[in-house]
Amino acid sequence: MKLNLDLQDAHQGPYLAQDRVRALFEIRGPTFHKSPRISVKFVGTMVVSFPTHVNGASPGQFTTVLFEESRKIEYRDLQWDEDEASGESIYTTPIDFQFPAEANCYCARPQKCQLPPSMDIVEPEMSVKVTYGIVVSVGRCILGPMTKVKSVAVEIPFSCTPTITSLPRSSCVLSVAMNEKSGRRYAHQRNAIMDQEHADGSCPSYSPKYSPSIKVEVLLPQPAVLIRGQPTPVRVIIHTPPDVLESGVYLRSVTMDLKSTVMTSVGMLPRTATQRRHGCSMAGAVKIDSEVFELDSGAWGNFFVMNTKPTTQSCIVRLDHAMEIVTGISIGLGSDVKYAVATFDTIVMDPPPAYEVGDAIRLQA
Ligand SMILES: [Zn+2]
Repeated sequence: MKLNLDLQDAHQGPYLAQDRVRALFEIRGPTFHKSPRISVKFVGTMVVSFPTHVNGASPGQFTTVLFEESRKIEYRDLQWDEDEASGESIYTTPIDFQFPAEANCYCARPQKCQLPPSMDIVEPEMSVKVTYGIVVSVGRCILGPMTKVKSVAVEIPFSCTPTITSLPRSSCVLSVAMNEKSGRRYAHQRNAIMDQEHADGSCPSYSPKYSPSIKVEVLLPQPAVLIRGQPTPVRVIIHTPPDVLESGVYLRSVTMDLKSTVMTSVGMLPRTATQRRHGCSMAGAVKIDSEVFELDSGAWGNFFVMNTKPTTQSCIVRLDHAMEIVTGISIGLGSDVKYAVATFDTIVMDPPPAYEVGDAIRLQA
């Protein structure tokens, strides 16, 4: 007896909440003399595992059932045919389920959380695997009360659309403080300066002792909603005070990564794991020759988001993304490069359905 289960519209890419899932189930083999018992289950699960060695916390594996729906397939629902070449019987039946609108989550509110996207995150501190699938089991009586059970499963890719309550910003400013000492100008002794514009979009103000400073402005064409698989062009503008400019300022590197944080709330405590993925970068020595200098970022300055999942918010699992930007600036071409780091929150989404057909297949591959 050979079982087969195929999704009927898998080519359309990942499914979304409330999408219908259609599959065709097939049994090939000898003709049944007794009705087989056939059950089908549509289930979403999240398995979170912790290694033994992290912070002495209890290791283990936690399985959360996000939803589950089971039903029986009656023998009379099977269509019978015969393979003329082999003489085998072929039984088929369509299977139809609908993704629920929300997860069977911990929220006490009537409004439950959205289902998280399919994911398989493996990090030293935590592994998180979210899968959706259909499982069909066929039980055949072989001898009196003895039953032989055979199963077949198909995994169903699922994605979600983030709920955007407020749009993220479209720019951030990094500041590299420069000091003047004994007649020479050199970058301030702090190597990495966490320095961002304020939440209201205003630039940070500096006490006179930190002046002057070089500001690196990173601009996106729109609020930082990044679409998976599509490039987001990045502009980099360097603002240099005139007296610093005279000393010969060089931009040495710009690195932009996507920092993704997954947080789960299973077991005793919420736990997080962080992943970093390369977005775009340049390295070299670009002479800054004007007070407001726009870097030619045409060739390298496209920020790509590929192997991650859309922003997810639920009480079971959260996936948050931020752009992490590091710039290196030097006075002259020596090895004394001063770095500034900034992060700003972004939302990651799948491409809209109209563009999904080709991209989705490439991303699945
Ligand atoms: Zn919830």
